[in-house]
Amino acid sequence: MAEPPRPEPAEDADQHRIATELADIGYCLPGSVTERQLRCGKPGCACKADPPVLHGPYRQWSRKIGGKTVSRWLSGDQVERYEDWFSNAKRARELLTELEALSLRIAERTEGWDPQAAPTGHRARNEDQGQTNASPSQRGKRREPAPRSRGTTAL
Ligand SMILES: [Zn+2]
Repeated sequence: MAEPPRPEPAEDADQHRIATELADIGYCLPGSVTERQLRCGKPGCACKADPPVLHGPYRQWSRKIGGKTVSRWLSGDQVERYEDWFSNAKRARELLTELEALSLRIAERTEGWDPQAAPTGHRARNEDQGQTNASPSQRGKRREPAPRSRGTTAL
C-alpha cells in the first residue's frame, strides 16, 4: 500500500488552523462589489457637462456563472446586509488557496518534485521570480503570496 505523506508538525498545525477558521466562517456570497459612476442618455444632463457630474455611485455586484460574468445592481441597504457574506467568501477563498499551497508543498517534498511554473511564457501570478528551481530547503520557506488586488472593491 502507498505510504501516506508525512507533514511536519508545523504543517499539521497550519492545516488545523485553516480548517478551524473555515468551519466557523458562515455564509458566503461569491463575486465582488464595485462602485460605478455613470452617464445617462438625457441631453443637457450634468453628466455631460465639462467637468461632468456623473450619476451615482451605484454598486454593482459581479460574479461568474459558467465562465460568464453576470452583474446585479445593489442598493446601499443590500450592500450593508450582505457585507459580511461577501467578506466571508473572500476569506474562504484565501484560506482555500493557503490550504492548497500548503498541501502542494508537502506533496512536492514527498515526491521530490520541482515546483511547476505556468506553461506559456507568463509566470503564475503568485510565483516569485527565481523560485522555480528552488532547492528543497528554500521551498519550505516560501512566503505566502500577498492577496492580489484588482480594480474592484471586494467587500
Ligand atoms: Zn445624466
